[in-house]
Amino acid sequence: MRPRTPRLPATPEPSNVIRDAEGKRALFSRIEPEPVRGAITVACSRCQEITSLSPLQAMRALLPSLYVPLLRRDYPSLMRCPACHQLGWSRLSLHV
Ligand SMILES: [Zn+2]
Repeated sequence: MRPRTPRLPATPEPSNVIRDAEGKRALFSRIEPEPVRGAITVACSRCQEITSLSPLQAMRALLPSLYVPLLRRDYPSLMRCPACHQLGWSRLSLHV
């Protein structure tokens, strides 16, 4: 008596396709929840607050600003802090 394992001829191909699609989706969803791509964080030396800005908000915050990497290595940008609204030295970092 041989075991009856019903073979469905159509299964191998579709299941491969589905697994591949889910693998790609999982990869993307792992990247997405973190800070928005292109977001800029401002670390303020006055209030020690770290503020996350969209590129547009960062452009506005940076408009009257000064970048002096030689004088201030830790906080090279003189700008108005989005958290405490004081003009002070900040460090910017871009999330790519
Ligand atoms: Zn501040």
